[in-house]
Amino acid sequence: MNYHDTRDPSRRVSFRTAVLQGMDPATGGLYMPDEIPSLPKSFLSRNLAPSFRDIAIETAKPFVGDEIPEDELMAIIVDAYPFTAPIAPIDPTTYVLELFHGPTCAFKDFGARFMARVMAYFNRDEDDSLHILVATSGDTGSAVGSAFHGVPGIDVTILYPRGKISPLQEKQLSTFDGNVRALSVDGTFDDCQRLVKTAFTDESLRGKLRLSSANSINISRLLPQSFYYTYGSLLIRDRGRYDNDIDSPSLIVTVPSGNFGNLTSGLIARKMGAPIRGFIAATNSNRTVPDWLASGDYRARPSVSTLSNAMDVGAPSNWERMNAFYTVEEARRQIAGYWLDDEGTMEAIRQCNARTGYIIDPHGAVAWKAWDDARSGAMASLLAGKTVPPEKPGLTGSVATAPEWARDCADRKCVGLILETAHPAKFGETVHRAIGREPSMPERLEKVTHLPDRSEPIPNDYGALKSWLLDTLA
Ligand SMILES: *Cc1c(COP(=O)(O)O)cnc(C)c1O
Repeated sequence: MNYHDTRDPSRRVSFRTAVLQGMDPATGGLYMPDEIPSLPKSFLSRNLAPSFRDIAIETAKPFVGDEIPEDELMAIIVDAYPFTAPIAPIDPTTYVLELFHGPTCAFKDFGARFMARVMAYFNRDEDDSLHILVATSGDTGSAVGSAFHGVPGIDVTILYPRGKISPLQEKQLSTFDGNVRALSVDGTFDDCQRLVKTAFTDESLRGKLRLSSANSINISRLLPQSFYYTYGSLLIRDRGRYDNDIDSPSLIVTVPSGNFGNLTSGLIARKMGAPIRGFIAATNSNRTVPDWLASGDYRARPSVSTLSNAMDVGAPSNWERMNAFYTVEEARRQIAGYWLDDEGTMEAIRQCNARTGYIIDPHGAVAWKAWDDARSGAMASLLAGKTVPPEKPGLTGSVATAPEWARDCADRKCVGLILETAHPAKFGETVHRAIGREPSMPERLEKVTHLPDRSEPIPNDYGALKSWLLDTLA
């Protein structure tokens, strides 16, 4: 399979190049597969839904082509996923896909662990180490650090703004040993990003160290996220008849979104044949994409901080991929837009717990509320001609922009799948304020709170970063 640049489709590269480069350095565009193949009908209609591992291999094969032999690809997948994505049914028509069973308790483990092993495979014949630099405002650093930890031939340096991430997040990224190191920068997240960008464009540094990035625009982080959409939708198709008496319900997946990598992966899974009727793109007050779906105008803006801080993105980088996939009219047919403010998020955590007993984190809560509103009247009133003004939280758009599944949803012929992207214990304080108690900590999260902080402080200065890199890694 070849990949092309979203900004200049005539620029085409192999899978290996797309993975090792991350983005096209000449145009700043993102890589997209030349085609989205369909999964075989016989595979999708198996009597017993295929396992997560089978789905991962069947999905990855055509994207990888002959660039990784099948037995090696199998080894990569087995090693990347000692966990899966269990489904929790929380009411007769609502399922939660728990994406937090990986080592860092957030869904980014699915993408980062596959990417790390694919990069290591492509790097195996090189004599020199590959050095990954990553700037993080919180969760990406730990997912990338954990994914590459112990991977031979590659090391990771994480830059984070000192004092500006949560104490738990800091523990999660500063306590690695071996090939993963953390630098606490006396500055902001933007400063960290600028330092990393400067390093990438520093020819004299690049002459001494092979540098690479591992950010969320890498295609090898997006492809594996489609595995769990196919897995979850097939499981629900199989078990749905036992949970409710809707005849062949349409499945609507609600995705709590920031950079829109996760939703883009869902679009890929649907195109490959996963039985998903449509999506709700649920955001916090950073509502660039819901506004785009409603108005047809794309306006990136500065981000605002919210309780669901991993979704605080005002200029979502994967919008460029969604826009390469679909015109706004095509996107609207499948995707409804929804946004929620912090007050609504707190209320959603509380309501979800009170009505179902499920403890949901602030990101998943935005998605749960979006689905719950849509099925219990908001979609019906949109179809009846009522619209919510854009500055008010809720379902965005109008009867003219409603998705093609809107009538099914209003008539209660849909079931919903909520993507729960983080373990609630990662946001224990917020959850406590909402429901009056702390969610219990999984052992793997609790463990890091006892490990020593190994981060090294550096000033907000490129010269300091450069000498640290040369002294430590060269
Ligand atoms: C990164 C993240 C998101 C947003 O995912 P995108 O792919 O950027 O849209 C949502 N929730 C959590 C917990 C995250 O870490």
